[in-house]
Amino acid sequence: MEYPEIVLHRGKEESLLRFHPWVFSGAIRHLPKGIEEGDLVKVFAADGRMLGIGHYQIGSIAVRILTWADEAVDASFYARRLDDAFRMRRSIGIVNADTDAYRLVHGEGDFLPGLIVDVYGPTAVVQAHSPGMHFARLDIARSLVELPDAGITSVYYKSETTLPYKAQLDPTNEYLIGDFSGDVAMEQGLKFHVDWLRGQKTGFFVDQRDNRMLLQRYSADRKVLNMFCYTGGFSVYALRGGAREVCSVDSSAKAIALTEANVELNFPGAPNHNAVAVDAFEYLADMEKGRFDLIVLDPPAFAKHRGAIKNALRGYQRLNARAFEKIAPRGVLFTFSCSQAITKEQFRLAVFSAAAQSGRRVRILHQLTQPADHPINIYHPEGEYLKGLVLYVE
Ligand code: SAH
Repeated sequence: MEYPEIVLHRGKEESLLRFHPWVFSGAIRHLPKGIEEGDLVKVFAADGRMLGIGHYQIGSIAVRILTWADEAVDASFYARRLDDAFRMRRSIGIVNADTDAYRLVHGEGDFLPGLIVDVYGPTAVVQAHSPGMHFARLDIARSLVELPDAGITSVYYKSETTLPYKAQLDPTNEYLIGDFSGDVAMEQGLKFHVDWLRGQKTGFFVDQRDNRMLLQRYSADRKVLNMFCYTGGFSVYALRGGAREVCSVDSSAKAIALTEANVELNFPGAPNHNAVAVDAFEYLADMEKGRFDLIVLDPPAFAKHRGAIKNALRGYQRLNARAFEKIAPRGVLFTFSCSQAITKEQFRLAVFSAAAQSGRRVRILHQLTQPADHPINIYHPEGEYLKGLVLYVE
């Protein structure tokens, strides 16, 4: 296939030969004239070897490789990749009679760097993180509704906050195909209102599905505190697990309203749930010691980029220290970090420091991560972002 050609400096092909899909701008020796953000380009090593074809953009990551083969990246290419993604999820049982909320495309993990697709019943919510995916959005949308057996009839495009601001693409959040067709999705037999129009990210955090199920197992007869509850995912599972009481906390009043609606949808009139709109740190500071014996800490990413790592680690330590200080004896703490910039080891160290500060005896029961519909391309370890620990606190 003919695409504008990019040539790398000598030796800069190494990571690509190991199938890592990013070309950093510093690796490029020659950029063709007139190349524009979002263009497809063919990348060559200094010795003339063809390495792959990908989307070009301005920034530290200059090319995201879509294919290592010399093939056309067109509508049929996207259709094949999406079909692979769907088949994988169905064959491993993620999409089933009890679950129609799932991640269909996880960027590099599905060999489609720059693209995220979450599915909620008949609606697919598409997020482009690269100009190239923005330009491909209509091909992608058409392929989504044509996926056999996926049952997708509407495609909502939501990239106003995910595309590089400087590219001046001015995307609009809108339905590319179909229209609003209900907002209730199902996860492991539980129902959730999902607000992709106004909610954060694509509207729901499907990445906690497996971890919510584990929490359900631990909830029987416990008093559960769900911090940073957003849509109330963990709260609803805790109620199904037989929690004595569940308290949901989020600083956003909208999140609290959504949590209450989701509890009502599954357990109408549940007398043992209450929700409070307040800052998590303040809530923990004011909370009486021993009030809860199961606490979930699932904060937003404290480190949105590498420069913020130090402060973020301090934030995780402070938050976890509060929980260790207040959790009842023989309590269970589910603690998470979804910051991609922070490694498993760094997070663990922050939690260890918090535990040490409290002086309590703490054991690790489980080490958690993201579920299988957020696969990690083995050549792109950066795709691993969700980290969690389940701790027994005496
Ligand atoms: N646990 C959720 C996802 C959490 S998203 C789930 O399973 O779906 C992070 C949430 O933290 C958001 O809803 C946001 O409103 C809330 N938040 C951010 N900062 C906060 C703070 N300081 N105190 C309480 N909630 C906060």
